[in-house]
Amino acid sequence: MIAYGRQDITQADIDAVVAVLKSDFLTQGPVVPQFEQAIADYCQVPFGIAVHSATAGLHLACLALDVGPGDLVWTVPNTFVASANCARYCGAKVDFVDIDPATGNLCVSTLAGKLNEAKQAGTLPKVLIPVHFGGASCDMAAIAKLTQPLGIRIIEDASHAIGGRYQDAPVGDCRYSDITVFSFHPVKIITTAEGGLLTTRDAQLAERLRDLRSHGITRDASRLQFAHEGPWYYEQHALGFNYRMTELQAALGLSQFERLDQYVATRNEIAARYEDAFVDAPLLTLFVENEVYSSYHLFVIQVDPDIRRAVFETLREHGIGVNVHYIPVHLQPDYQQLGFHAGDFPGAEGYYAGAITVPLHPGLSDADQQQVIACVLEAVAQHGKV
Ligand SMILES: *Cc1c(COP(=O)(O)O)cnc(C)c1O
Repeated sequence: MIAYGRQDITQADIDAVVAVLKSDFLTQGPVVPQFEQAIADYCQVPFGIAVHSATAGLHLACLALDVGPGDLVWTVPNTFVASANCARYCGAKVDFVDIDPATGNLCVSTLAGKLNEAKQAGTLPKVLIPVHFGGASCDMAAIAKLTQPLGIRIIEDASHAIGGRYQDAPVGDCRYSDITVFSFHPVKIITTAEGGLLTTRDAQLAERLRDLRSHGITRDASRLQFAHEGPWYYEQHALGFNYRMTELQAALGLSQFERLDQYVATRNEIAARYEDAFVDAPLLTLFVENEVYSSYHLFVIQVDPDIRRAVFETLREHGIGVNVHYIPVHLQPDYQQLGFHAGDFPGAEGYYAGAITVPLHPGLSDADQQQVIACVLEAVAQHGKV
């Protein structure tokens, strides 16, 4: 089976992890800060905070922005459940902004309309979480223009998008947001097995995120509330968690990071090849805006919803590891019991009905790519005929 996404592990990665195993620190050592610095520098942002998953990162980002009971958080339905669940961890309520089916990303004009209604009803969200679907940045300038005057904070879910660019600057530079969250799950662009990282320009947010990642504890003498009792002394200032990244994970991430630009370039080459091959086929590919350089975490085709299942199954039978991203979050049973219904977000639902993710990762050989293309063209032709 040609996997839709897969990690690429080199001998250098293995050596880096083994070196940590032989060192003094398996956790809370020097490599996590090195990894944080490398990603922060890459993203041209002063602060990077590594965590054990993007899900943990989204949770901490909400907490650091004071999301709590009585608050509303908006995200999109076309995402992994974690983008919405993070608000619920904090006791807040979630609502969704529909997507533009052409890009898979948050629809800015839908956002504008929904903000107007919410302003009148007094139900504005505290935080908006746009998701850079498939690695293509949302139109952050347009989003910020709408949300900033209303005091709405922004967390970018960039789980797909490390190495991507928007307006000729790296995704994660937080120029239109408070916090950006990356994921290093093995299917993503670079991996730490499990892992995530937050970037921010705000020193206070960075400090809060660091504290919350490690039980809400600080040892910083300048910040103690009670008398410093000795070298062993620490204080808990907030109810935090253990969301730390290990040294092993950071060593893997740091080693992978060296190949980030190459990975993204290869992903773009494969995507361009798919675009060319599918240009006359009865299917749609996602539109990537001019100001966006996608990291191409995913390559999605949209076929006639009537034949989606048949095309999907045919591709799987031919060894093409297709997948679907995403079942709209509001259709999940756990969201239906909160009061969401089928039909609530027609953009995401319509997109989902025809969507198939085809394999795209740097390990795909030329022959793999040819096989994916040939099988897709054959399957849509076969099932398209009545
Ligand atoms: C993968 C992913 C997450 C969760 O990442 P983890 O690191 O697995 O917790 C969150 N949001 C989106 C959009 C994702 O694709």
